[in-house]
Amino acid sequence: MATGPADQNLVKQMNSALILDQLLATSPQSRANLAQHTGLNRSTISSLVSELIEQGLIREVGRETAYSRGRPGILLELNPAGGCIIGIEINVGYTTVILTDFTAHTLWRRHVEMDEDTPQAEVLALAEDLIDAALQAAIAHNQPMLGIGLGVPGMVDAAHGTLRFAPNLRWRNVNFRDLWGHKFGVPLYIENDGNASALGEYYFGIAKGCENFIFLGTGIGLSGGLMLNGQLYRGADGYAGEVGHIIVESGGELCSCGRRGCWETLVGPRAVIRGIVHALENGAPSLIPGLVNHNCEKITMQVVVKAANLGDQLALDTLSDVALHLGSGIANLINLFNPGLIVLGGTLTLAGDYLMPTISNIIVAEALSAPSRMVALALSSQGMDACVKGAVALVIDGIVREPVSC
Ligand SMILES: [Zn+2]
Repeated sequence: MATGPADQNLVKQMNSALILDQLLATSPQSRANLAQHTGLNRSTISSLVSELIEQGLIREVGRETAYSRGRPGILLELNPAGGCIIGIEINVGYTTVILTDFTAHTLWRRHVEMDEDTPQAEVLALAEDLIDAALQAAIAHNQPMLGIGLGVPGMVDAAHGTLRFAPNLRWRNVNFRDLWGHKFGVPLYIENDGNASALGEYYFGIAKGCENFIFLGTGIGLSGGLMLNGQLYRGADGYAGEVGHIIVESGGELCSCGRRGCWETLVGPRAVIRGIVHALENGAPSLIPGLVNHNCEKITMQVVVKAANLGDQLALDTLSDVALHLGSGIANLINLFNPGLIVLGGTLTLAGDYLMPTISNIIVAEALSAPSRMVALALSSQGMDACVKGAVALVIDGIVREPVSC
């Protein structure tokens, strides 16, 4: 059957995507290697590589040193100078913006903390100022601006660029594509913070190359991202992965989503700190008040971990409870998805020493033995920047999947 120009362009686009995806996963590689790994023939690889080099997205970096026969091939990698990307995370109490090159290397970073109750208009104005500053910083690098990636905590309609509902921010129906699409004049990608973080871990972090893993991260609540068969699993409407709102305790504590007994009411930092404050009000002995000048509003997960490091029993008991509840929930996720890896991110990484052994034990005790036998448990290698790096990954992912304009 004859193929028209539109079909040919689509095939070319998909083949270019294969090459970029390969180089994103493993760099550098020769043209022969790329042919072997993508299944494309050498002449197709050669012509597409020439185009991608011309576009500035990949570059040649010397020759292979180990080869079996013939001339050593020229090695290729993604070109850091392919363009700049802005990653932004808007979350409860802070906004972080980074400017990176095309390989997600951070060139510029700003992190601004604010009151958790800061009005939406103020948060958005601050975010816009930070994006303007990042755009200015990009000018100094003299590279094209490829796009802005945004990670937000809540249910995101990525196709329309809309944050539908963010319970912890108490925001509803914010259309970022309308707000920022024209204002900044570059492509805008938006995702739920858990999904963005999972993508960041897959491309640049601890989950690199792992096609089936689950990201669980805490900021205020508990977010999740499901990477299944090498793709973010978004569900029918893009709202999959809201693990924090799985009901684990019928009739339990009231959650920010308006329902009771969600998983994040047992393991999310806001709920955990509320529990500590309640225990302190009931006279529990603890070093925590002394660490925050007796101002309970200043208790954070960092403070709880610091107290645990000092041997504080309330902090140790609290983290032990968090580990038990995390472990049970993770065991259910293992039974459901059979992941190869569970990545813990956000403030969970601060408490890793206290959480990981218990979670591992609970997985063994509560998950089915077949899917739990091979699952690994790891802390995010991106720390508190998992989401903002993931926001950059959204832009790179978009370019990798549609590198050639038809
Ligand atoms: Zn909830």
